[in-house]
Amino acid sequence: MPDVKKTKVYLVGAGPGRADLITLRGKELLSRADCIICDRLVNPALLRFAPPDAEIINVPKGVGTRSYTQQQINELLLAKSAEHKTIVRLKGGDPTIFGRAAEELAALADAGIDFEIVPGVTAASAAAGFAGILLTDRACNSQVVFVTGREADDKQQSSIDFNRLAKFGGTIVIYMGVGSLAFIAERLVENGMKQDTPAAVIADATLPTQNTVRATLSEIAGRCKSEGIEPPAIILIGAAAAGDRRFDWFSRMPFFGKSIVLTRDARGNAESAEKVINRGGKPIELSTIRIVPLTEKTGFISTLTRFGQYDWVVFTSRNGVNIFFEMLGKLGKDARVFASVKVAAIGPQTAGALAEFGIRPELVPGVFTAKELGRELIALASLEEKKILLLRSRSASKDLPALLEEAKAVVDDVAVYDAVPMKSDCTMLQEQIAGGKVDWLTFASPSEARMFFQQVPVEVVNSSRAKVASIGPVTSEQLRQLGIAADIEASEHTVDGLLAAIEGIAS
Ligand code: SAH
Repeated sequence: MPDVKKTKVYLVGAGPGRADLITLRGKELLSRADCIICDRLVNPALLRFAPPDAEIINVPKGVGTRSYTQQQINELLLAKSAEHKTIVRLKGGDPTIFGRAAEELAALADAGIDFEIVPGVTAASAAAGFAGILLTDRACNSQVVFVTGREADDKQQSSIDFNRLAKFGGTIVIYMGVGSLAFIAERLVENGMKQDTPAAVIADATLPTQNTVRATLSEIAGRCKSEGIEPPAIILIGAAAAGDRRFDWFSRMPFFGKSIVLTRDARGNAESAEKVINRGGKPIELSTIRIVPLTEKTGFISTLTRFGQYDWVVFTSRNGVNIFFEMLGKLGKDARVFASVKVAAIGPQTAGALAEFGIRPELVPGVFTAKELGRELIALASLEEKKILLLRSRSASKDLPALLEEAKAVVDDVAVYDAVPMKSDCTMLQEQIAGGKVDWLTFASPSEARMFFQQVPVEVVNSSRAKVASIGPVTSEQLRQLGIAADIEASEHTVDGLLAAIEGIAS
């Protein structure tokens, strides 16, 4: 039988660093790749888009012991093409710019292997955009040139034509030039470029660690040295490099340069990480718990058979909602089980999760705590003999059922999931905290706080400059019992509220 699916290699531009700067096409290809061969500068967060069973090979060049030569990478491409159908060769920025794509393409072409090139956002435009600098500007320049600084290494044999470059008159963008910046600047001045020509160096462009140095051509190398600028960095030279400081939007984001530790489960952390990144911050994800559905258990299934008898069904987390509906679907049922039942949600995020399944809760309390939810339920109408189903975490506090039972309700407290403690390697994080590299630790539940401080000694945090943010009073109380005074408690007890509270202080 003919092989219906031919092997194809996709040379994909990963973009400059920040994961969401990959193209839609690139993301789509990642999501169906059998094998991904990654360059060093590619953000590992992109691998989240890959299928869990994809083969992932990192091929750093010229660093450490596990470094690959270009020849070895070419051979690897051919070898993997024989094993897999969809191979993504993921390269930093745009694959056609200083990416040695020619050698890889030639190897594929010679071997008769199909390929496609998927462009990416190159470091030049990313660095300029994230520093608020315009590569071209009608007012002052209408040409751009991309130069590699690598060839400037060898002072005798540089292939850069400094004479022409000095007279270019537009924006000069230099890749891979940090190490030879002093040499480059000198040659340009020697060849007639004005010493006070504006220059900017942007390291780690688009990442929370982005660092921009602005100076004149004659001073830029010294400034980079004193500020400890390291590769990867882009050098911009020319009138446009001065930029209009009002356009420097990224460094003004509320979490810019801030490291924020997230301690939820992996899925929750990924969600929060995106929110931190969107505010310019650096998320450090540490899963302290793992969410395990308990819906296969008979307790849950038998409640479903009696669902219509309940007066109220109460959800106290998004996890509860998602796991509940997943199981409902597996049992061949849908949202109609709620037909005659009133629904309460602890807060807007839980309500939002319900809305995705077409359910609009009758009650969301004004303050998003379990106690307040209980109080408002009680205030609404008499609960005497009313049947209430709580679909919650196994470790949820007993306050809510106790409150409802006091009001004479008949409460079924059913565990839909368990937040199982998870151990992670915290050595690096501890060092970061102790070394003053962490700005905030965030806790969105008491169990996260407990688990975190089972792994990281309280003294490490208390003697560091890291601040602690708590989602609400129950978590703050748990922290207090552990010996930590939260620096801030969210006034809206949601993850968004938690981040907003930090933002209030950070900005
Ligand atoms: N193909 C890539 C460039 C590869 S060469 C692209 O199109 O962007 C590697 C050089 O790119 C680095 O030495 C640096 O000059 C630049 N670079 C890559 N990522 C960068 C980043 N996040 N910030 C600043 N410069 C970056």
